[in-house]
Amino acid sequence: MTGVVMEKSCLYIVVPCYNEQEVLRDTANVLARFLSDNSDLLSERSRVLFVDDGSRDKTWSIISALCGESRRFEGLRLSHNRGHQNALWAGMDTVKEKCDCLITIDADLQDDVNAMRAFIEKFQAGVDIVYGVRKKRDTDSAFKRLTAEGFYKVMAFLGAETVYNHADYRLLSKRAVQELMRYDEVNLYLRGMVPLLGFHSEKVYYERGRRMAGESKYPLKKMLALAFQGATSFSVKPIRFLWKLGLAIMLLSLIGGVLDLLLPGFDPGFTAFSVWCACGLILSALGLVGEYVGKVYEEVKRRPRYSVMEYLQSDDAPKG
Ligand code: UDP
Ligand code: MG
Repeated sequence: MTGVVMEKSCLYIVVPCYNEQEVLRDTANVLARFLSDNSDLLSERSRVLFVDDGSRDKTWSIISALCGESRRFEGLRLSHNRGHQNALWAGMDTVKEKCDCLITIDADLQDDVNAMRAFIEKFQAGVDIVYGVRKKRDTDSAFKRLTAEGFYKVMAFLGAETVYNHADYRLLSKRAVQELMRYDEVNLYLRGMVPLLGFHSEKVYYERGRRMAGESKYPLKKMLALAFQGATSFSVKPIRFLWKLGLAIMLLSLIGGVLDLLLPGFDPGFTAFSVWCACGLILSALGLVGEYVGKVYEEVKRRPRYSVMEYLQSDDAPKG
């Protein structure tokens, strides 16, 4: 070292919480310890922001108690449950002016907290986006692993640029967050949006652990919804595939029709079947087109992504 003193960074750790009363206190302890253990890199003003995504259990009362106990903690309470992606957005939007960089991490700390030090080191070396990437998925059930890995492959096939095995554990520099907040879409799919920013990015690999307590807030239904969101927000391939399929079926039936005329006694016998099949196809095609139209409908309304009910922060908190 040449005696240059690296300026310490003001970090915000943004934690979305939905019915997380079982894990919240432990999570808060671990994150507060992380901030103090890494005070060589982090400024005093660094904070943990818990975003309560309309929980129905004691999550908010625990968050407000935590805010009373330490100035390290802040709490943002959304007026109702808007889902993980919107909760993350609300948190990032709230701190975008106050921090030098932020890290988003799930409340159950399945993602290895210790990887955050490497995130910050990379940030201080000039990287704007650091993706946390899971090395293995031994701790997830075989089903979760299969569906999750299948998901990344389908997304890649559809042409949406996503980082394989990276969920929403990432660091964003202040300017990356500010750029991200300029994206106006209300159908959020952060994993697809962040790579669009184009800033210098790097990956940090870590082992994924088990959920500390409580159960997954991402049942299959929500996971499928997110996958569908990703596919339809980031790709028009499904819709493009439809006309190719329609064309292929039309050509096949034309060939069948010609053969029927030319070859006496040629009767493949699927007239009834093919009519039903074509009906089904038309209906599902219409439905898919409808999904895209529905998306346009939601986008043009421009409804706010979240509404804040309360924001707790210490008096000496960084001001935005
Ligand atoms: N979450 C949220 N709103 C929701 C569902 C989940 O804020 O509607 C949060 C949840 O509290 C957790 C994170 O999103 O911090 C990821 O959820 P979970 O750990 O249950 O998902 P999994 O790891 O099973 O995919
Ligand atoms: Mg989890």
